Amino acid sequence: MSWVSVTQPNGFLLCFVSVFMVVYLGNCVNGIPVVDLTHVQDSNTIFWPGNPQFNFTILYRGLTDGGYWYESNAIQTPEHGGTHVDAPSHFAKDKLRIDQIPMSKLCGPGVIINVKEKARANPDYRVQVSDLKVWEDKYGRIPDGAVVLMNSGWSDKYPNKTLTFGTESVNDPSTFHFPGWHEDAADWLVKNRNVNVVGVDTPSNDYGQSTTFDAHVILATANINGLENVANLDNIPEAGSTIYVAVINLQDGSGGPARVFATNLDNSVNAASFSTSFKWVLALCILLTLG
Ligand SMILES: [Zn+2]
Repeated sequence: MSWVSVTQPNGFLLCFVSVFMVVYLGNCVNGIPVVDLTHVQDSNTIFWPGNPQFNFTILYRGLTDGGYWYESNAIQTPEHGGTHVDAPSHFAKDKLRIDQIPMSKLCGPGVIINVKEKARANPDYRVQVSDLKVWEDKYGRIPDGAVVLMNSGWSDKYPNKTLTFGTESVNDPSTFHFPGWHEDAADWLVKNRNVNVVGVDTPSNDYGQSTTFDAHVILATANINGLENVANLDNIPEAGSTIYVAVINLQDGSGGPARVFATNLDNSVNAASFSTSFKWVLALCILLTLG
C-alpha cells in the first residue's frame, strides 16, 4: 500500500483494516496467557508409600552416524504421582477408567477455594461446605462442569516429602498431616452442583489423617474425577479461568500424570488490550489519511 492510496475514498478503511490486523492480530499470534498448574515429573516426584519410584532412562543422547543430534528416553512411573488424575475407578467399582473419561469432563471453569490461612493454622484442615458457600457469595453459583480446586498453599512445600506429608515418617501414612476435602463438602458438591473435577494442591483429596478415604469414595462413586498435587494456584484468579486437565490416555488406567493448565486468566485485561490497540490504530489511520 502506497502513501497515495490512503488519500483515495476507500483509503482510510483499507489502511484501518491493514494496520488493525498487524497490530491487534499480532497480539493474538504472540499467544494467549496460560498458567501451568503442574509440578515437573522427575526423580523427586512424590508418590504414596508403597509405589515404585519414577524412573528415567536415557536410551540415546548424542550425535549419530548420520551426523544429526538424537535424543530418546524411556520412562517408568506409577499412575498416582506428582500432578495427576484419579479416575473414578481408582476408588469405585465399575466406574470410569482413564481412557473412558470424555475429554469434555477433563476441563471446565476454574473454581479455586482458598483455605490457606485455615490450613496454616491447622494442617488437618478439611474444606467445608461453608468454604464453598463463601466462594459462591463472592462469585455466584459454582458453574456446571467446574474444576473445583482447594488452594491450601501446600504446593510451596512440594517436592519436599517431609513438608508435603507433614511428618518425618514419610513412609507411614498414619503420621501424615496435610489438608484435603471434608466428606460433607464432597457430598454437597455431588448432590447440589454439576462439577467435572475436584482436586487439591496436596497429595490426596482426603486429608492426611484419613483412613477411610471418604471424599475419594464419594466423588468416585459419582464418576467425578480427582486431581492431586496441583501447582501454582496463586497465579490464577479464584473465578473466571478455564482449566484443562490433559491426562495421559491410558488404557484401563486408574489414574495418570497430567499436564494441567489455565487460560482466560483475566478477561478484563484482554478487553483493555483490545481497546488500547483500537485507539492507537484509529489515531494512526487518521494521521495517515490527513497526511
Ligand atoms: Zn491419586
